[in-house]
Amino acid sequence: MSDLHEPALSDEWELVVGLEVHVELATQTKLFCGCANEFSTEPNTNVCPTCLGLPGSLPVMNETAVEFAMRLGRALGCDVHPSVMARKNYFYPDMAKDFQTTQYDQPTNRDGELALADGTVVGIERAHIEEDAGKTTHVGGGGRINDATYSLVDYNRAGVPLVEIVSHPDIRTVEHAKAYVSELRNILLAIAVSDAKMEEGSMRVDANVSVRPVGSDELRTRCELKNINSIRSLGRAIEYEARRHVDLYESGEAPRQETRHWDEDGGRSTAGRSKEDADDYRYFQEPDLVPLAPTAEQVAEIDAAMPVLPAARRARLGALSSVADDVLVTVVERGQDMLALGAIEVGADPDKVLTRIQNDLAVDEWSSVNAETLAVLIQMESVGELSATQAKQVLADMAAGLHGGDPRAIAAFHGFEAMESDALEVLVDQLISDHPDEWTRFTGGDDSDRKKMQGFFTGQIMKATKGQADGRAVAELLGRKSK
Ligand code: ZN
Ligand code: MN
Repeated sequence: MSDLHEPALSDEWELVVGLEVHVELATQTKLFCGCANEFSTEPNTNVCPTCLGLPGSLPVMNETAVEFAMRLGRALGCDVHPSVMARKNYFYPDMAKDFQTTQYDQPTNRDGELALADGTVVGIERAHIEEDAGKTTHVGGGGRINDATYSLVDYNRAGVPLVEIVSHPDIRTVEHAKAYVSELRNILLAIAVSDAKMEEGSMRVDANVSVRPVGSDELRTRCELKNINSIRSLGRAIEYEARRHVDLYESGEAPRQETRHWDEDGGRSTAGRSKEDADDYRYFQEPDLVPLAPTAEQVAEIDAAMPVLPAARRARLGALSSVADDVLVTVVERGQDMLALGAIEVGADPDKVLTRIQNDLAVDEWSSVNAETLAVLIQMESVGELSATQAKQVLADMAAGLHGGDPRAIAAFHGFEAMESDALEVLVDQLISDHPDEWTRFTGGDDSDRKKMQGFFTGQIMKATKGQADGRAVAELLGRKSK
């Protein structure tokens, strides 16, 4: 494999990527039967005649799955259409019916878009409902069917509801491909339709990759990369595949349209089956299920209940602060934006709040940190009661729930409160040198001048510390400095 810093492609070639993402919906039961939709380590325990595809069994559509699918569609800006289920015919042992019940020419969601954090917009062709297949394990050999001694099939996953989100081939860089998947994941989590865990297979990404000469708008032969199980892996796979295509073209050959298997350990893709065209699947309408015909009211209800999506949440924080985009991305991705907004609302400095959260609240559990205590911490840091290092330590202890999560108690416990008078003195010295005339009136003037100037300096300090300074300590400091 080439150096990571090497650009993916030379100047003459452009990358063209479309992504197909399968997402398992977090419903209680499967798509067409009452079996539990939950991961089980014991094979073939969440099964019934319907999801085993036994003759005579009939599917019943899961209403929640349809609702989740429509919610996802609307979150991606799709139009929701009346739709029909279809049979996609193929033989594979993990789909005992010998067809997958999916949607074909009349999918539920069409024509949406996904805006990446940097503003790039990727078109969504469709987001359709379908069932998952079971899982085959090839035992012996390299884990592939060709050299296996025998294979085992687990139908626990068969019939789990999926939405497949198909993008247009609008993606031009590896970074955008990765950003697309992570933004889609953020949306899925925000609308609570899936746990979207790539590593556990509840979100699976296939990448259609091709290349073309820069300046051309043709779509050349694409290969579909499968078995990608992390965002990092997605980047590596696309980069490898694009370079493979360029190498073929530059040596006078061309890639074949095929499915390719990404080998993460080997850092390369290997040929799978040559890709079928839609004709090969002999799609036809599923006769055992009625068409889905959501009403305008149902769609309106879904829209009304839509939570604020990650892009809007980033924009909301962005309007209040001047931090870099990646800070907003991280804070929203971790779901810490409400915490940040709360702290800003009670008066803490927005940039300091966001930066402190991004840098020092990368923990799984922060429920013992709330807007008020975070604002107090930021305030203590702003006025110099805490150094940056100390603030970091205090925040870690707050997140761990020590001393009731109270930043003052934690700072006192560490002996950090000694900083306060020093910090105040630094501030007073600064004010004295910034306002020499006022200081002369304070030290050399009559009683009324002195009183007035004491009020002036105290006011300045209170303003600088947002009222956090101790008034008596200020008076004492001013008195001491004037002697
Ligand atoms: Zn079942
Ligand atoms: Mn699919």
